[in-house]
Amino acid sequence: MRILVVEDDKDLNRQLVEALNDAGYVTDTAFDGEEGHFLGDTEPYDAAILDLGLPQMDGLSVLEAWRRDGRTMPVLILTARDRWSDKVAGIDAGADDYVAKPFHMEEVLARVRALLRRASGHASSELTCGPIVLDTRTSKVTMDGRAVKLTSHEFRLLSYLMHNPDKVITRTELVEHIYDQDFDRDSNTIEVFVGRLRKKIGADAIETVRGLGYRLTASGSDAG
Ligand code: CA
Repeated sequence: MRILVVEDDKDLNRQLVEALNDAGYVTDTAFDGEEGHFLGDTEPYDAAILDLGLPQMDGLSVLEAWRRDGRTMPVLILTARDRWSDKVAGIDAGADDYVAKPFHMEEVLARVRALLRRASGHASSELTCGPIVLDTRTSKVTMDGRAVKLTSHEFRLLSYLMHNPDKVITRTELVEHIYDQDFDRDSNTIEVFVGRLRKKIGADAIETVRGLGYRLTASGSDAG
């Protein structure tokens, strides 16, 4: 899952990015409103974290512009403490949730997890697909109750598929959601990662849809 972080405080931006990366997300960052608006308008993010107090273009205007342009990704706004009016204005402008500064990173991560699972129609923080369970709180994967060890690339790939089960996902879409903007993207490597994942979670779990892409199915067998 790929997340945009728009925060002009360099330290805070870095802390957010580190925490998100540690949790298995890829991130792009912007340090002012204009850059943030541009990225959110042109790149497909699974969620955005948006500070309201930003140079060039304030966060509220960024959010309003995104929503006007039909950008629907979940947005978590960062507000100043005790500014209840900012929270109201932010939510009315299309924010899905807020965290007041100063915050505990764990709270941001929990809210991001909730936004991502709600956006993909999941109620539980554990994503389940047949015998495979991905715990979004710990970023751990089990199969039939046994731990499955994944590389960060494999985890991101599986995480995106598990957030979007039973849908055909193109290689392009996968590339856009498991790599950050600066990564040297090559959709051919997706095939390699899918091959490695299949060795770990079972060859049938990820179906190849000829000419279209991949689909995660609960069965590979009769369960679905
Ligand atoms: Ca700020």
